[in-house]
Amino acid sequence: MYEPRRNIDSYLMREVIESGLSLKLDPNPILFRPIHRKEGHSFLQELKKRKYGLIDLNKTILRNSFLYGCLKFSEAESNEHLIVGYGDRYGGGVDIESYYHIEGDIDSISISAEEVILGQIGSILPNKQLVVFHNHPKNDYSDYLGRPLPSVADRDTLLFQKYLFPIQIMRRFTDGKEGLKFFLGENGKVLEYRTPSISGVLKLLATNNRRY
Ligand SMILES: [Zn+2]
Repeated sequence: MYEPRRNIDSYLMREVIESGLSLKLDPNPILFRPIHRKEGHSFLQELKKRKYGLIDLNKTILRNSFLYGCLKFSEAESNEHLIVGYGDRYGGGVDIESYYHIEGDIDSISISAEEVILGQIGSILPNKQLVVFHNHPKNDYSDYLGRPLPSVADRDTLLFQKYLFPIQIMRRFTDGKEGLKFFLGENGKVLEYRTPSISGVLKLLATNNRRY
């Protein structure tokens, strides 16, 4: 999401370095089980109604079922979509009870995730989790790698939303980082990305050094 236009050489260099980091540090794409496909298929029918804004589900679904539905929906789309699930967290999982859906254009979503999270979903309570999914159109390089490839812009978003907004967002969670998770759907797979952009971190360190 939010891919600003950059000088193409330095842009490509950053993408290549960052994708190497993703291969090393991010988990493997999700393996969907039959229950995820079954529940996810029902959620897909819900998404096809193209209701935008905050929608409550009639029945809660597992996080991976939510992600399966998001993947199947976005596979048929030429635009990027941002779909945020929200629900009760337990152990390693979460029961998704409502979702928020925004459609972007072919390579970006103009609204910021922060706006969605703070403005539309409102206060996030302890033991809740936001599951942030977006898709990329088909990409031959990541298809070859066999896994989705978050862009530098995606990792910058992760950095700022997940690690650098402790006051606005993180205080609302009992244990910070588990309250917010980021997933990317691409080439038929879904990947959770956890590694912030290294160039974003370096930029930040440089800014801090200048201050002291
Ligand atoms: Zn992206």
